[in-house]
Amino acid sequence: MHQHPRALGLAPLSTAPRGIDIAQRCPVNPVTLTRPHAASRAARFFAEKFPGRSMYAVKANPSPDLLQILWDSGITHYDVASIAEVRLAARTLPEATLCFMHPVKAEEAIAEAYHTHGVRVFSLDSMEELEKIVRATNEAEDLTLCVRMRVSSDHSKLSLASKFGVAPGESKDLLMAVRQVADALGICFHVGSQAMSPEAYSNAMERVRAAIVEAGVTVDVVDVGGGFPSSYPGMEPPPLERYFATIHRAFESLPISYSAELWAEPGRALCAEYSSLIVRVERRRGSELYINDGAYGALFDAAHIGWRFPVQLQREPDSNAKDMEFSFYGPTCDDLDHMAGPFLLPADIQAGDYIEIGMLGAYGSAMRTAFNGFGSDETVIVGDEPMTSLYTGVENPVAATNVVKL
Ligand SMILES: *Cc1c(COP(=O)(O)O)cnc(C)c1O
Repeated sequence: MHQHPRALGLAPLSTAPRGIDIAQRCPVNPVTLTRPHAASRAARFFAEKFPGRSMYAVKANPSPDLLQILWDSGITHYDVASIAEVRLAARTLPEATLCFMHPVKAEEAIAEAYHTHGVRVFSLDSMEELEKIVRATNEAEDLTLCVRMRVSSDHSKLSLASKFGVAPGESKDLLMAVRQVADALGICFHVGSQAMSPEAYSNAMERVRAAIVEAGVTVDVVDVGGGFPSSYPGMEPPPLERYFATIHRAFESLPISYSAELWAEPGRALCAEYSSLIVRVERRRGSELYINDGAYGALFDAAHIGWRFPVQLQREPDSNAKDMEFSFYGPTCDDLDHMAGPFLLPADIQAGDYIEIGMLGAYGSAMRTAFNGFGSDETVIVGDEPMTSLYTGVENPVAATNVVKL
């Protein structure tokens, strides 16, 4: 069933099945649908329109097939955070440039990344980490070192503001020390995931400006991190071009040299549209649907942080019942395996029906476990459009009605 995506090319193929075709095969286990053309479109959008270099944050979806699609579509740099990600990306894309952007690393991981896999870019947020990097690379003189600044997550749905990053006002000594060691000095940050306003980036760039001025150092790289949004029910962001324009303007006004580079580390925005999931309803209890995937499968975010993914009944002929609000239970014996939603589906839905849950390409399959013996590895490439897209200019008409009602 699993085909290599390169056989598919870039455009949706009329010969590839659609979501409904997979549902009509009546699969017993959940099935992951992948849409290579959607990932490719997102990658080309960033490669062409972001006013700097886009590197893909591998943790959002480490599928080797996806890495290959992004590479083929113009993404040459990859943000990796663990030695396992370094090895995976190096094995899958031997010519790619890898950047180790986790600010707290094992010294052994730094050494292997540098000496075995050719990694030259590292992030850090402390003197201890700088000392580790210097030791592990035998005082290498070809390093690009990016100091991670702490910035606000106020505009984002998922905060990344407390764990990493040197606080504003405390970055001077570290920036000066890194400048002594690094061939190129960078400043990076992360505004939090699913940033709903471009202002998140301009506000963060103001902190970068203050840090540069205070330390009086020459900065070669400004890396605005991830956080670029996708579209979900109740979370429709402004167009990505507006984020790019805001970032470009802020970058141009920083006190840095003309040759300084602008980088970004999109994760979610490059892969959210890449996959969805077909699940079966095993039981209905009022407005609760017991489905065959959940919190320990691809729906971690739906369960643990109440993320609302778009849903669509996959039945032919389609139901003409009015929509009502449902919540989902996953298949494990655990009460926590509950997705509150609400998910809007036709009121006549029943056991045996199939539902497609959309926009699961980012942080969906990446978080899957086999807890309690549930889940499935079956993946099918489909050629229809994702339920929503930030890259087509128009939403899929079927799904658009779904989203508007929510
Ligand atoms: C998770 C992460 C990203 C990707 O974030 P998205 O919100 O998915 O774009 C980028 N950079 C770093 C350092 C991260 O930890």
